[in-house]
Amino acid sequence: MNWFIFVIIILGTFFIMEGITWLTHRFVMHGFLWYLHEDHHKPTGHAFEKNDAFFLIFAIPSWLCIMLGLQNEVYWAAAIGFGIALYGLAYFIVHEVIIHQRFKWFARSNNTYIRTIRWAHKMHHKHLDKHEGESFGMLFVAKKYWDKVKKDKLSINIKS
Ligand SMILES: [Zn+2]
Ligand SMILES: [Zn+2]
Ligand SMILES: [Zn+2]
Repeated sequence: MNWFIFVIIILGTFFIMEGITWLTHRFVMHGFLWYLHEDHHKPTGHAFEKNDAFFLIFAIPSWLCIMLGLQNEVYWAAAIGFGIALYGLAYFIVHEVIIHQRFKWFARSNNTYIRTIRWAHKMHHKHLDKHEGESFGMLFVAKKYWDKVKKDKLSINIKS
């Protein structure tokens, strides 16, 4: 397989994963698997959350696609596996490290994009129960969150 197509499939999978994550979060995590996601909305103070099981749930298809794809030389399947893994890594860095600061690797950033996704996710956490909610995605968020952060930045600049 042409390496260019390989990379395109990885990137395509990455973006599709944001949609799959939105759907999973909206209908599965806030649905029949709420008992695994609940402790992410109502923190227990433990280092691990039941919610972390979702990393495993997504790691399995990723690993199977990579392993079986490479073994059988079905490279498009391996590329899908790498795309899922790449998204998992991005999700981990954005959600666990940058937003929830479970690992204090980076200082809090003032970057508009970072502030926007952090704000959008904060609005998701405002809801403590299963049924209500907003902002189920992670890397792409609605314009209203961008507007709010831009307005905040502007008003700080005017004041100072
Ligand atoms: Zn949630
Ligand atoms: Zn969260
Ligand atoms: Zn409610």
